[in-house]
Amino acid sequence: MRDKDYEVIKMRLTGKLPVDYQKTMKTHPSLAAPKFDFNSRSLNPIKKMGRNERCWCNSGRKFKNCHLNRESQKKQSPFEHEQAMFSELRKGYCAYPASLSRDPCSDTIIKAHTIQKAGGLAAIAESNHVLTVKPVMSELIKTKGNPQPRKIGVKLASVFPGFCSKHDNDLFEPIEGKTLNFTKESAFLFSYRAVAYERFAKEAQQRFMLSLREADAGMPFQKQAALQQFIQGNLFGIEIGMRDVQKWKAQFDEKLLSSSTDQFHFAAVRFDRILPIVACGAFHPEFDCTGLPLQKLGQDRVELDQIALTVTTFDSQTVVVFGWIGNQEGPARSLVNSFLAIEDSRKADALVRLLFIHTDNLFLRPSWWEGLPESSQKALNDMSRSGTVERQRTGKEYANDALKLISANTVEQVSG
Ligand SMILES: [Zn+2]
Ligand SMILES: [Zn+2]
Repeated sequence: MRDKDYEVIKMRLTGKLPVDYQKTMKTHPSLAAPKFDFNSRSLNPIKKMGRNERCWCNSGRKFKNCHLNRESQKKQSPFEHEQAMFSELRKGYCAYPASLSRDPCSDTIIKAHTIQKAGGLAAIAESNHVLTVKPVMSELIKTKGNPQPRKIGVKLASVFPGFCSKHDNDLFEPIEGKTLNFTKESAFLFSYRAVAYERFAKEAQQRFMLSLREADAGMPFQKQAALQQFIQGNLFGIEIGMRDVQKWKAQFDEKLLSSSTDQFHFAAVRFDRILPIVACGAFHPEFDCTGLPLQKLGQDRVELDQIALTVTTFDSQTVVVFGWIGNQEGPARSLVNSFLAIEDSRKADALVRLLFIHTDNLFLRPSWWEGLPESSQKALNDMSRSGTVERQRTGKEYANDALKLISANTVEQVSG
């Protein structure tokens, strides 16, 4: 890593940003791009086809091996689908680009923590448990699609089988200590892990969606058609997401292998205490923290900016690390600048909103959540379910500072 370059552009910030960042913001071309034409991917379900014709469901198989007589096949339960998803999530591989380097993998794929177990998760755990916002099927059904965060053991929280034991150790050792200095190198490693996780999660989602193709066994034709159309629409969205995340992972791999951090940018904030929340993820910023639109999803003409975000704890203080590869004037920088410009004592609240809006790899201290007013819990739950076709994200949620969630101040802010 070329730390000299970094020293030149490093700014230690105190309080508000010196420039009005909104004046320097450029309008992202995606905001004017047309939305996808989802109808172009519509299926044309046909009850009776020739046995050797390609099935209407787009599986690529012949009708006789696919939807012929599906209504008389054995029914699956939603819990079987959930088990299928879990087994997809357990299929691991190492995300290190070993084929492009001279550093082969070790034999064991481990359950890699996206957030350090010892420092990050342990610091917010109570009786070795934290809360996760990822719902399980039984609760989705029980609560009619409105589940509350649920308890999970710290051993299982934030893990994914995305690295071999050697690379998990070697790569992330510099950010696994008791203390952390904000450098470009450490920010890069946090961001690399977030991107590797995001690619893994997207791939698992795709495999799960493909496995759902069989889930209409035993259903009448109309229901088969509806389910297949639902899958088709979702796969289209996932495909576009995959394309983005693959490209992004490749960019990070290239930087990792060449030990170069050109074009990698970051910002980091240290709070004066432990916040009751940790997280790790990567996403497309849609609005800045004041609710201004930054870029538009749901279009496939214009490339989108992504940003990685890790929130964990070192030395009894919560650290927040943003990182991205790309230019310095895009949506990622605008999001970060809008965050840095927030009044110090309100940053923690803005962070919580951002996390609920954008990642489900997010963990909470149980007593903090339980102590929130019901209205705040509801507002946060709603945010965590935004970003779907049914429920789009809004700038209002990013900027909703009426919610009082955490009181904390920052002690260090670095941007580079
Ligand atoms: Zn079919
Ligand atoms: Zn490996």
